[in-house]
Amino acid sequence: MTLESIWAGWRMSFIEGASLERPSHVGCVLCVIGESIDQDRELRVITRGSFCYVVMNIYPYTSGHLMVVPYAHSASLSEFTTECRREIFDLLDLSVSKLSAVYSPHGFNLGVNLGRAAGAGIADHIHFHVVPRWNGDTNFMTTTAGTRVQPESLEASYDRIISKW
Ligand SMILES: [Zn+2]
Repeated sequence: MTLESIWAGWRMSFIEGASLERPSHVGCVLCVIGESIDQDRELRVITRGSFCYVVMNIYPYTSGHLMVVPYAHSASLSEFTTECRREIFDLLDLSVSKLSAVYSPHGFNLGVNLGRAAGAGIADHIHFHVVPRWNGDTNFMTTTAGTRVQPESLEASYDRIISKW
């Protein structure tokens, strides 16, 4: 069993249960998280805006890997309103600022994967990644063992990030 499956297992069963109670876009985890407003800690939601929320990635590339997710289920950038676009940028900016305070990384990758061919895990619901990076953090296990070694648990990361938000 990989670290990823250890972390994700409990959460996927929670999300499957939640989706039965609150059907949104069928099968879309990001819609379920967006609508499950009373379970932010369990779902690792960091903050919520009017148009988007910020959540930890349960398959993090590094500690502190966040995602800015519009509530709207859309695969197209052109569908976002001006207000939503503004909030996406504001939350990306805030995420960088807060993660800098918590982790003091050497740099960040910010971005969006449009379409499965570009690597999007949930291609139908656009989301933006914020990934802190450190010099020399590329880990051989990513390519050789299909998993990544994380220096802290998701729960510990959540507590650290929330304490600075
Ligand atoms: Zn969705």
